Parts: sequence; structure tokens; C-alpha cells
Amino acid sequence: MRVADGGEWIMREDGRRSSHRNSTMKPKGPLRVGILLGAALLLAQVSGFGALSIKSHYSPLNNDRPKRSSTKFIILHTTEGPGKGSLQKVYRRGEAHYLVDIGGNIYRVIHRSRIAYHAGTSMWNNLKNLDRYSIGIEIVGYHDRVLTNAQYKAVRELLRQLQKIYTISDEKVLTHSMVAYGPSNRWHKGPHRGRKRCAMFMGNESVRRKLGLTRKPGYDPDIKAGRLIQADPYLGKVLYGGAGSKVASSSSSRIPSAAGVITKNRSAWDIAKQKYKSNNTVYVFPGGKRLKGNQIRDWTSIPSGTQVIL
Ligand SMILES: [Zn+2]
Repeated sequence: MRVADGGEWIMREDGRRSSHRNSTMKPKGPLRVGILLGAALLLAQVSGFGALSIKSHYSPLNNDRPKRSSTKFIILHTTEGPGKGSLQKVYRRGEAHYLVDIGGNIYRVIHRSRIAYHAGTSMWNNLKNLDRYSIGIEIVGYHDRVLTNAQYKAVRELLRQLQKIYTISDEKVLTHSMVAYGPSNRWHKGPHRGRKRCAMFMGNESVRRKLGLTRKPGYDPDIKAGRLIQADPYLGKVLYGGAGSKVASSSSSRIPSAAGVITKNRSAWDIAKQKYKSNNTVYVFPGGKRLKGNQIRDWTSIPSGTQVIL
């Protein structure tokens, strides 16, 4: 008999939990009762995984992706954009294993045994290229907003199952912002943390508790070891404690639009992070002139008051 444990169920691609079609042996009497009882218990166990439903929406790239040889981490992401487009982008590019929409619906995009390209340039405790060692979950939302109740519920259950299957402790459920790092640039003279704030609030203790995670990393191991410098102190505070770690509720915690203005203490990098020289980032100069990030040559000549539109 095939045992459909939680792992099996989450792994099934056809949406069915178990198959009885090929059964040729039909035991009778006490043995049959025993088997039926076992099946009932098993079903009870499966239903213990709650009302979690996962829809298969595999990326066309799924079958080309190599299998991972080990799974050490689960990495959480926020799409930084609204639902529909996010799912399409993640799907087209195979950028996560799962996507959780605003309503708490979960979509499988890349099979969990394969590699999804979600972490980019990444490092944790001196281990690099974390796509090779991790499962990525994209959550529709923003790095500085809390999740919807339906999302909390769905992500909590998904994490519980995946952590069980791969024996991943709470401390190894990380946010993309914890593991992403950037190469040196004109503002930072060495490899640095702070390339992204992706899923930042899911590093916060109270948010993690709602996700069923009771423990978290107490510090950034790569900064502590001197492998990286801290280029985003606010991010560091939210992830690892300190004055900035309190999560204000919902939309009041959004970074105000004034934060998108360059001042003498706030560089283009502070605002746009790795997208500072992207053609999707627009700089509106005090005189009204507009330039895209990839059109700017001299980063020292950007005047205070220039607005950065991402
Ligand atoms: Zn991310």
C-alpha cells in the first residue's frame, strides 16, 4: 500500500491523494477491517493538514530545472506588486516553488524537488548561491506590510509541511532580505547586505509567530564574520532587533513617498537599492528633467530634491 503521508500529498502533481485503481488483492474479514481502520486513521492524519489546497500551475520551465541535491533552507519573498502580474512573472520565469496570493491560494510553480531561481546573489553563513539549497515561497504583498489573515494561515501550513518533509528548523526559514547581498558599488566598498528588503517583515518576531515560527536567527552570520558589510541598518534592525524592529500595523508602516527623494543623507542606492541604475527607475530632477537609471553616468551630480520613481 502506498502511504500518502503529508509529504506524499504535497508532492502529488495530479491533485489526487491516493490511488486504489491498481489494487488486485482484496483481503476479507479482520484483515480487511484492520486495513480500513488504518486507512481511516491515515485519512484523519492527512486531513490534519488542514484546509490547505495547492493548485498546480507549473512553469513551462519546470521540467528543464535540475533537481536539488539538498534542501537546507526555506526562503520567503514578497512580490512587491499586486497579484495577477506577479503570478504570471513568477510562472514565466520559474522564480519560486510556490506562490501565495492575497486570498491565501497556493500555487505550485516549480516542483519542490527541483531548482527555482529565486534567491539571486545570495549567501548565508558562508554558503553561496542558495537556490541550490532552498525552497522559495513568493507571497503576494510588500516587504513592509503585514500579510492577510488568509496568507498567514496558508503560509503557516505550507511551512509546517515543508519543514517536516525536509527537517528544516525555524531558524532556517529565512527572508530573501536576510540572504541577498550585493557586490561593491560606488556607495559601498565591499560586498554588502541590504541589496534587497524582500520579505523584510517576515524577519520580525511577532510576524514569525503568526507563521508558526518560534525561533529566528539572532544575528547575521556573514556580517558578524566580516564577510559582508551592513549597508542597510534599518533592515538589520527589523531583522535582528533594536529600536526599528517594531512592526507598525499595515499601511501606516509604508515608507512615505518623501522617502523617494534624494537628500544629502539619502542616496539613490538607499532608495532604489540594486535597481538604482535600472531602466525602470526614473529620476525626476528638481527642474523637471527626467532620466532613467541606465541613462545616468555621473552619480555624484544628482542634486538633493531629485525624486526617484521605482
Ligand atoms: Zn525576493
